[in-house]
Amino acid sequence: MSRLDGKVALVTGGSRGIGAAIAKRLAADGAKVALSYSSSPDAADAVVAEIAAAGGEAAALKADAGSEEETRSLVDETAARFGGLDILVNNAGIVRMGTVDSASLEDLDRIYAVNVRGPFVTVQAAAQHLRDGGRVINIGSINGERALIAGMSMYVMSKFALGGLTRGWAHDLAARGITANVVEPGPIDTDMNPAEGPMADRMTHMVPLKRYGQGDEVAAAVAFLASDDSSYINGATLVVDGGLIA
Ligand code: NDP
Repeated sequence: MSRLDGKVALVTGGSRGIGAAIAKRLAADGAKVALSYSSSPDAADAVVAEIAAAGGEAAALKADAGSEEETRSLVDETAARFGGLDILVNNAGIVRMGTVDSASLEDLDRIYAVNVRGPFVTVQAAAQHLRDGGRVINIGSINGERALIAGMSMYVMSKFALGGLTRGWAHDLAARGITANVVEPGPIDTDMNPAEGPMADRMTHMVPLKRYGQGDEVAAAVAFLASDDSSYINGATLVVDGGLIA
């Protein structure tokens, strides 16, 4: 028996980066996994194929996290396809850079729509399907603890908001034994934050372990929170950052 045998998981933004690593890890631990994408169908299909080749079960579903309609359909379709829902991972997220002088309201609205409103709608929709003892796991950021560099205020806002929602949901869902926790990665080598270039050198220097993390290392933390081993952890923040904000 694997520790997530019989469980159904939904990972938003599972086509690339951290979300793809989470989808593969939850499937390897025995869960049936639905993963969403917005603009990378080939990458999403490749993740599904890799899971299937390893003996797991997965499906890729298109849904823009900024669309209420698509998000509600995503959740309903996942539950219908796999029979209910046990684990929701709100991973889909975007970055928009801009200082006080240069940031646009369009970027502010979009980052709010995808990084904050998206998870809110997903959890509202998932609450109808999540079985007792379920898990809500949000992928925040160390930018949800403090601002590290200029130009990140909109992203920082969104990740603080996600941390706040997590703490509220820890109360809202607790009566059914459903926990809500937030995982806050530091710099992780993905398309969003590649481990090469001047910015990466600066970030690496700030990390006590002197390297970027890998998606698998975030996925391991998510797998723990998804499992029965985390049964008394609720409303918590699990930082996966090589010691950056220590
Ligand atoms: P990537 O940009 O590498 O991947 C983003 C994933 O989210 C893709 O699968 C993408 O799918 C999906 N996605 C993006 N926008 C949407 C949308 N509107 N609707 C649905 N899916 C969407 O990012 P990471 O893997 O690096 O980041 C994943 C999460 O981790 C984000 O929430 C991010 O904020 C957070 N994070 C990342 C860190 C890092 O250093 N990389 C550090 C801390 C937190 P598609 O290609 O189909 O659009």
